[in-house]
Amino acid sequence: MKSTTAATCTYGDGGLIEVNPRVWSDLSDITREILLFHELGHCILYKDHDDSQLGIMNKILLPGYIGKSRAEYLEDFFYH
Ligand SMILES: [Zn+2]
Repeated sequence: MKSTTAATCTYGDGGLIEVNPRVWSDLSDITREILLFHELGHCILYKDHDDSQLGIMNKILLPGYIGKSRAEYLEDFFYH
């Protein structure tokens, strides 16, 4: 894993999420949650990146739930 990579998902056999401890230690609790949702989105929901709107599957890790509520982010994440 590159030093700037926050986390990765390896597909197959249930999937494997690996988190970079150096990046993790600098993240807020909210950003950590978004990061784990993002990787679960890859590994469990088989989602690709989507930069068409603010969302959990944006390529760039969001620092928080910007512009809309956590509930709205999660609704978009699970149901769209
Ligand atoms: Zn990703």
